[in-house]
Formats: sequence, C-alpha cells, structure tokens
Amino acid sequence: MAVPARKTSKSKKAKRRTHHKIMTNGLNECPNCGEMKKSHHVCANCGYYDGKDVTAKEEA
Ligand SMILES: [Zn+2]
Repeated sequence: MAVPARKTSKSKKAKRRTHHKIMTNGLNECPNCGEMKKSHHVCANCGYYDGKDVTAKEEA
C-alpha cells in the first residue's frame, strides 16, 4: 500500500535501503589454478570447469 513520502522518515528509508548494497559479483576462486573466475563459467585462466579441462577436447 502506498504511503505518503513525508510519512517515511529518513531513518526508516535508510534502514530499508541497507539491503540495496548487498550484492555478489559472482566471482569465485578457481579450484584448479586459484585465479578468480565467474561461478558456473569456464575458468578463463586454465580452462577448467567442474574439475576437468574443457578446452582440450569437445567430445571423446
Ligand atoms: Zn583456473
């Protein structure tokens, strides 16, 4: 339900917005080489994903 802007105090606004800054960049340490990599992405440094080198061969 809408509330008039002047009814929401500065502290009430500030407390609500404390959650706004909380965000993750999706970066994790590569378990193979230790470089920072995006989670659920192939490591740009060593080409490993899920413990395997996925750049070497596409199919067996
Ligand atoms: Zn890596």
